[in-house]
Amino acid sequence: MSEAFKRISLACPKCGIEKSVKVPLELFNGKGFGIIKIQVPLGGVCEKHNFLVLLNKEGAVLGYETFDMLVSKPSEAGKEEGYPEEPNLQEELQQSESNLQKYVNKFGFNCIVGYLHSKLFDYPSYLICRDDVEVQIDEMEILFNGIIPQTYRNSHKLNVVLFDPEIYPQPGYYYALSKNRHQDAFIINPNRHVINVPWKTNIDYEKVMLRNALSENNSQNQVKKLSEYINHFIKDVEHTVLFLKSVKKIKEKDLINSLNQANPLTTFNKPRLRLIREFISKQITPELASKIII
Ligand SMILES: [Zn+2]
Repeated sequence: MSEAFKRISLACPKCGIEKSVKVPLELFNGKGFGIIKIQVPLGGVCEKHNFLVLLNKEGAVLGYETFDMLVSKPSEAGKEEGYPEEPNLQEELQQSESNLQKYVNKFGFNCIVGYLHSKLFDYPSYLICRDDVEVQIDEMEILFNGIIPQTYRNSHKLNVVLFDPEIYPQPGYYYALSKNRHQDAFIINPNRHVINVPWKTNIDYEKVMLRNALSENNSQNQVKKLSEYINHFIKDVEHTVLFLKSVKKIKEKDLINSLNQANPLTTFNKPRLRLIREFISKQITPELASKIII
C-alpha cells in the first residue's frame, strides 16, 4: 500500500522549534482551492506552544496562527470551595508586551530571527503580502537598525511587496513566484511563515540570542541584551579577522583551537566559526574568509 501521509515541516511561530509531521493525504483531496487549517497541540511540534498551521491543497505551508490566551479548565480545588465554574483565564506574555515580543508575535519567531540575520549579514529581505493587508515595519526597522553596530549597518530595508488577491487568488502560487524571483533574498509572509532563506549557514546562534533576550523582564533590557550579544559576536569576528591576517591558510580545526587559546572568555566552535566565516565573507572580504580551509 502506498503511503497515505504527507510529511510537512513545521516551525513553532513562537519559538522557532522545527519538526516534521505526518498529515493524512485524504485531507488534501477535497474540492476547491481552500486553505486547510490544522491545529497543532502542545507537544505536537513544540512542548510549550500550540498553534494553527495553514496549508494549501498541495500541502505547502502558507502560514501560522497563534493564540494570545489560554483558557484552562476550572481547578478541582475551586469547585470544592463552591466557586462558580468560571474559567481561569491565563494570559500568556500579555502583561506590558515588549516591542521585541510584539514583533515576534506579529511576524513569528523564525521570521524575526531570519530578518535579524539578513540585516546583520547584509542580505536583501522581502515581506510578501496581499495588497489589502496593512503592515507597518518602520518602527521595527528602527529598532533593529539600532542594535547593529554602525560599521555593519546597511541600507537593506525589509521591502514590502504587495500582490492583488484578485489576480492571484492562491497566495501559495504568488509565494512560489516570489521565491523564484528573489532566490538571493530572505522572504517572509505576514502569516509568520518563512518563504525563502538565501543562506546555507545554520542560524541557531541567533535563535539562542533572541530566545535569551526575550526572557529578560522588560523591553529595554531585551533590546540591550540582544545588542550585547551582537556586539560580542562582532568582537569574535574581529579576533578572527586579526588572526586570519597573520596566516596564509588555516584549517578550520586549527583556527578554532588557536582562537580558543587566545580568547579564554569566548568559546569558538564549528557552528560559530561558520557563522563568523560567513560574516567575514559578506561584510568584510571574501578573500579573508577563504583563508579558512573547511
Ligand atoms: Zn514554541
